[in-house]
Formats: sequence, structure tokens, C-alpha cells
Amino acid sequence: MRPEILNPLFGETQSLTGVGKALTKPLAKLGLTRVKDLLYHAPSYWMRRKHVETIDAQDVGQTIVAKITPVDYRSGGPRSPFRVHATDGEGNSISLTFFGRNTGWPRKLLPLNEQKVITGKLEQYGDELQILHPDVFAPSETGDIAEVEPVYPLSEGLGNKRMRQLISQAVEMAPELPEWIESSLLKTRQWPAWRQAIGSLHGNANAEPSVPDRLAYDEVFANQLAFMLIRASNRRKKGVPIKGDGRLRDQIQLPFELTGAQKRCIGEIDGDLAQSSPMLRLLQGDVGSGKTLVALMALLNAVEAGYQGAFLAPTEILARQHFAGLQKLLAGIPVNIAILTGREKGKVRESTLMGLADGSIQILVGTHAIFQDKVQYRNLALAVVDEQHKFGVSQRLMLTRKAKQAPHLLAMTATPIPRTLTLSQYGEMDVSRIDELPPGRQAIETRVIADSRLDEIMDGLSRHIASGKQAYWVCPLVEESEKTDLMAAEERAASLRARFGDKVGLVHGRMKGPEKDAVMERFVKAESQILVATTVIEVGVDVPNASLMIIESADRFGLAQLHQLRGRVGRGDVKSNCLLLRGQSLSETARARLTLLRETNDGFRIAEEDLKLRGAGELLGTRQSGDAGFRIASPEQVTELIGPASDDARLLLDRDGGLSSARGEAARIALYLFERDWGVSLIRSG
Ligand code: ADP
Ligand code: MG
Repeated sequence: MRPEILNPLFGETQSLTGVGKALTKPLAKLGLTRVKDLLYHAPSYWMRRKHVETIDAQDVGQTIVAKITPVDYRSGGPRSPFRVHATDGEGNSISLTFFGRNTGWPRKLLPLNEQKVITGKLEQYGDELQILHPDVFAPSETGDIAEVEPVYPLSEGLGNKRMRQLISQAVEMAPELPEWIESSLLKTRQWPAWRQAIGSLHGNANAEPSVPDRLAYDEVFANQLAFMLIRASNRRKKGVPIKGDGRLRDQIQLPFELTGAQKRCIGEIDGDLAQSSPMLRLLQGDVGSGKTLVALMALLNAVEAGYQGAFLAPTEILARQHFAGLQKLLAGIPVNIAILTGREKGKVRESTLMGLADGSIQILVGTHAIFQDKVQYRNLALAVVDEQHKFGVSQRLMLTRKAKQAPHLLAMTATPIPRTLTLSQYGEMDVSRIDELPPGRQAIETRVIADSRLDEIMDGLSRHIASGKQAYWVCPLVEESEKTDLMAAEERAASLRARFGDKVGLVHGRMKGPEKDAVMERFVKAESQILVATTVIEVGVDVPNASLMIIESADRFGLAQLHQLRGRVGRGDVKSNCLLLRGQSLSETARARLTLLRETNDGFRIAEEDLKLRGAGELLGTRQSGDAGFRIASPEQVTELIGPASDDARLLLDRDGGLSSARGEAARIALYLFERDWGVSLIRSG
């Protein structure tokens, strides 16, 4: 239960005075649905106003406060603005300009020959000085006009004045909260108490309008504490120790040696599996680093020990590909492997469910269907989750909670995120890294090309497929609308078909499973040579003969995402190419990002750079796994503060695992405040 002290802060913004129906939408648009959201709504800048006696051209560009008297109205044609001519009493004149059809309103606001106080940004317009849409006050109200004022991110229908009112109401409602930060840290950093920090976020015009470190730390600390609670609770769980005898692994025939990194990771996983508390491990490895084999070894370990293993893929296509791949590797080896997705129906499904229940199926591959309630395992001991970044913390927690006995969990991701971010996103897990690609891989040659050279690109593509090779063509990602994505992809496929006929396949996210699989299958079998795709091919799909990747509007993708897309090629022995098409105008950042991609194939380095260039949210795709995302701390703050926060959280739990001391109670408040309360239910009781 949420601590009572926080109740006012979790009240809806609707409950504040002055919030009517009209503000509901604008507030929601900014994500400000609860009082606490307003508390953390940081100003984007501080507006400073200069009180002036006379209107003077030297103040152009500044926001001024001045006494004026309207002397004349000038209404132009229907297209031109309405102007109120005014003087400052010393012969200097100014034009107060209003756009919009309603001319009655400025007339009412500024009656002729009546002194008013106006404020706004002074501009030069031709040989006139003007202010566009000034704020107007009666002379008696001059004192109300602040010299410095925070200006907030706003949305249509919600002006700064109203926003300030709402925020000050919220600040007013904010209670003093007990301190959850360790006192010595508070002292060395000279941080204020929580409420004071909130106050200074909105009231300290001398500071940068950024979130004070104290407030950022709170969020990072809550994040780390929640993860540590999962870890601690996991350590108390009883799982099954797995110690296979190697009889199945030994039968796997590979045409290559495992890399050192693969062997090391398998060793780390074996070490975890042998423990009785369940494994929580993240296997990080660049595209093509060979994570699947590592997973297979872990699964075989479980099967050798008499248990079942499950392999969860994020998409239907991937599930099928993994299934086929594993079947091939297991050919002639006595392991019973099955697949289960939303598409297995009727008798097939029934018999798979039975095989799982009686234990005759030892490895199950599938989509999230494999963790539905109806699916009962006889003795599931290991769950492998591929492409982990599509799952948030709560989903991970659910996976391990479902089983009677908590299974070991191995999560795999090809997104080589920086260490600090790994800690902030997967803080509950231990990490193994495959930091070495199998030998003999040819580097993918990457080039950035203006999309105006489409003809040349088409000719290159034509030569490429004439030699029997295959290619991917990835269409732009238009975030707002899946529909636009689709149209772009369909148009591109049509234009390619005009030239290359039925050698062109099209796959996109809106296709139904069977349809999608059919297209993929044709491509895998090389019946089609060009695969036009939206980002559905982003993860996993493996076609070694495809050695050309063309990505349209590459600047619209995240770096890590581009790197992952590029990883679809370079899987065979032939030299692979990646063409990043860009528009005519590119921002500095976009240019730097594409250049980096051209220069390196090192996913970890790309991730570090992307973090610097674009920030954590973009890199992690927080929209997909928002429950561990940061709303308050900036990426820089996360990077800087996560070390101390993590240490602090660990220390606290070492001393007070039940969070029952005064500080522990305070820390619970922090968990709720930052909505990491999924951690709270895991607190050791008593
Ligand atoms: P990812 O880490 O992207 O999931 P995969 O497991 O799909 O990578 O492996 C990519 C390709 O590399 C597969 O074709 C696999 O057979 C091959 N592979 C894996 N390990 C090695 C190795 N040690 N040496 C050579 N090839 C390997
Ligand atoms: Mg993979």
C-alpha cells in the first residue's frame, strides 16, 4: 500500500483549483496527470523582464515591462494584424500587434487614452518598435509582474501563467518527506532536503533550469533499490540446481570452435545453474556473436539433468527460425523439442500441451504463448528470453513468478548498451558479455549516400542480385504512424517490383503470422532476392546469402538500431555492404552519428556514443520498457549517479533488508514516489 503521506501527490491534477475540462487534454499531453507530475515538471528556461521608463530601441530583443497609453487603432486588411498604437508619454511610440480575427478583444484590452502596463518581447518591425500579443495589466497590478519567471514546457490550451498557478499549488501540497538519502552523502554533496529541492526547481532563477542532482539521485536510487530488492528476493527463492553430465552437449557437432567469449559465458551460466537460488543473468552480445549456441548449451544442461527448458522469442518469425535452427543442431540427438506460438491450434496444440505436462517435451521454443496459464510444465527449470529489450522489468518478474518453482532465467540481448545503462535497466541481473565475434567474419562496409542518387543505388542492387546474392531494403520508420510506415514500404516494394519483378518480397508488422512467415520463407530459400521490410526484421533473422543492406532515411533510426539492422548482413563468408541513405539536409548530430556507424562495427562503442549523442531514452527505447525508464534524471545524471546510488541501495539492504528502520521506511516512500513499487512486494517480511 502506498504510504499515506504520498496520497496528495498522487491525486489527479483534475483535483486542483482551476483545472476544468478544458485543461484535461493539454495536461495529459504533457504527461501531467497527477500532482506529483507537476512537481517534477521542470522549467525550460527563466524569463527575465526589464522594467523600463521609456520605450527604447536599445532594448530590442528583451522582454520589457512598460507603462503605455493607447492612442490609435489600425486595422489592416483581413490578412494583416490588428495594431494598437501607443506612446510612453515621452513621445516614443510602440505598436502592439495582434493576429487573429477578433479585433474586439484587443480593443477591450487596450481602450484608447487609458494608461496600461504591458509586458512582452520588444521587436523591431520596419521602422517601428512592436510587441506581439503583449500581456496587459492595470497600473495598480504592476507589482504582480515578476522580474524573473520560470517558463515551462506548455501545450496547446495551457499557457505559462496557468501552468505556474498549477505548479505552485502542487508545490504547496508537497509535504516534507522523511529523508531516504544516507546522511553522509547528503552532507558531502551539500544536497537540500527533498521538499526544498522541489522548491528550488521552480523557484531558483540563479540555477540552470535543470533538475537538481538531489532529485535525480532520488530517482536513480529508487531504481537501484527496486532492482536490489528483486535480487535479494531471488536469492531467498528455492530453484533447482542443475548439473548436467555433458552427454547431450558432447553430441553437438559444430563446424567451428566456440569462441573464447562463448566458452566463458557458458561457464558463467553453468556456475549459476548449479546454485539452488535461481539464476538471473543477462547475456549481452552483439548481433552474430553466437548467443543462440550459448543458450542451447544451457538448455541441454537442464535436459541432461532431467528438467525442461523454454526458449522465448519476441516474434513469430524468430521463434520459427530458432526452432528450425535448434532442430538442425539437435538432429540425431535424443532431445525432444517442440514449438508453441499463437498459431499452433487444435490437435497439434493439444499434443504439445500434453507433452509439456508429462515431460516428454524437453525443450519448448515459442512466443509469449509459452508462458500462458494453460501451459503447464512438468518441471521447467530454465527459461531463456531472446532479445530481452522488448520486455520490461514487470514482464521479467512475471516470467519467474509464474512457475511453481522459480526457473533459472537467462535473458539475451543484442543491444550492446553501455555498462551504466545495463545497471539501470537490468540491475537485478548478473551480466555475461560475448565481447568477441567468431573469427573470419568480414567487416561490413558501410557507406552513407544521399538518397538523390537512387538511380545509382538501383543499378548497384541490380548487379548484386544478378550475381545470385540477396539484399534487404529497410524502409523509413515514421514514428507517429504505423500506417505511413507501411505505405512507404509498399510504395518502395512496388517501385522495386517494377524493375525486379517477383524477386521482391515485402514483410511488415501488420501482416498476419502465416503470411509473414511465407514471405520470410521464400527469402530464406532464396526464392525472392530482395526483401523490403519495415523494422520487423530488426531482430534475429538469419540469411547468410543476404550480403547487402539498404536502409532508407537512416537518420531516422537510432544508432543501436541501425547497428542491429546492419547485423542482418555479414553472416556468410562473402563481403557485405550496408548503404545508409540520407536526405538532403542533415543535422550535425545526425551526420556525426552516421559517420560513427561507418567507422566502427563495435556495438559497445556505438552504444556509448549514442548515449552521448542522443540520450538514454532514445537508446533504450524506453517506450517499450518504460517501467525502468527515467523521467527525471538526465542521461548524464544517471551515468554520474548510478554508481553511488547502487552502492547506497546495497548498503541499506544489507543493514535493513526488511526496510523497517526509519530510513528504510523513508526508502519505501521513494520506491512509491518513483513508481518502483514492484520492488516493494518483494521486501522480506519480519
Ligand atoms: P546472435 O548472437 O546474433 O543470436 P547467432 O547465435 O544467431 O548470433 O549466431 C550467428 C551465426 O554465427 C550463426 O550462423 C552461428 O551458427 C554462427 N556461429 C556461432 N558461434 C560461432 C563460432 N564460434 N564460430 C563461427 N560461427 C559461429
Ligand atoms: Mg539471436
